[in-house]
Amino acid sequence: MQKVSVIGAGTMGNGIAHVFAQNGFRVNLVDVSEKALEKALATIAKNLDRQIAKGTITEAEKSQTLTNITTHTNMSDGVSEAALVVEAATENTTLKLEIFKQLDTYAPADAILASNTSSISITKIAAVTKRPGKVIGMHFMNPVPVMKLVEIINGYATDKVVSEQITELSKKLGKVPCTVNDYPGFIANRILMPMINEAIYSLYEGVAGVEEIDTVMKLGMAHPMGPLQLADFIGLDVCKSILEVLYQGFGNPKYAPCPLLTNMVTAGYLGAKSGEGFYKYTPGSKDLVVSPMFSKK
Ligand code: NAD
Repeated sequence: MQKVSVIGAGTMGNGIAHVFAQNGFRVNLVDVSEKALEKALATIAKNLDRQIAKGTITEAEKSQTLTNITTHTNMSDGVSEAALVVEAATENTTLKLEIFKQLDTYAPADAILASNTSSISITKIAAVTKRPGKVIGMHFMNPVPVMKLVEIINGYATDKVVSEQITELSKKLGKVPCTVNDYPGFIANRILMPMINEAIYSLYEGVAGVEEIDTVMKLGMAHPMGPLQLADFIGLDVCKSILEVLYQGFGNPKYAPCPLLTNMVTAGYLGAKSGEGFYKYTPGSKDLVVSPMFSKK
């Protein structure tokens, strides 16, 4: 399995391409946006420079990693020789089903088709293809080059041998695979998102401010990042989409996104990627500044 295609070159796609390329795979990175591809290559180069500064890789390894990546805006060119495709496009069910129909048409018949979805049913995605046994969830964590976990999701029809192959492959990438079954939110987001939603409800109901909520969870529970900061980092639109999948999938109102989250997403306050969410982000600054919307000063 030396040729891997990654679909989507955003936050996750660039990290997934980085990790495969650094481990000697030939990566075809595909996005509908030429700009997203350019930004992804610049991000990968910057992250490789960080690894050089830390002394974990050499200049030659950086150059080889970048050489291993080819970019495409055309899906059929990008996947025609892939042994594995990892889809990391926008978290939208209609879009993902359409992409998997295309992948099923253009990728070799024996290729494994994996999705990095945070919450969408692998069984549902697999059902639009003619190879449901070869469709699997390969859920990397953000930032991909740093985070060790890969949550592997077996759909209802995923072949056991495919699951074992993806488990072994994850280990080769230096990751720790953890296999789960296909129910809404899998494990990571079924547990994480209700916590984030509850933190937003606590703010919405005036129980405490942004800093207090995050400080309680950081110092009290030894979380490296508070839930509101983490929500900003993930993207508030992504959090809302995942909560909607949990809400619909279980039919339980406890998963319904907090109205404050819905308002923030509707207004375009998406967290770090849009410059403001619960905190305000200034390019070049690492200071954590509460958004003026929630500031008490
Ligand atoms: P993003 O918005 O940063 O990037 C998505 C990319 O997909 C964009 O560059 C967009 O141009 C591209 N795209 C859209 N339609 C496409 C198509 N038809 N073909 C090719 N590319 C297309 O999103 P992201 O945060 O990288 O999330 C990607 C996936 O990873 C989602 O399924 C998300 O749930 C999942 N995920 C995200 C995180 C996170 O922390 N952001 C963590 C784990 C998993």
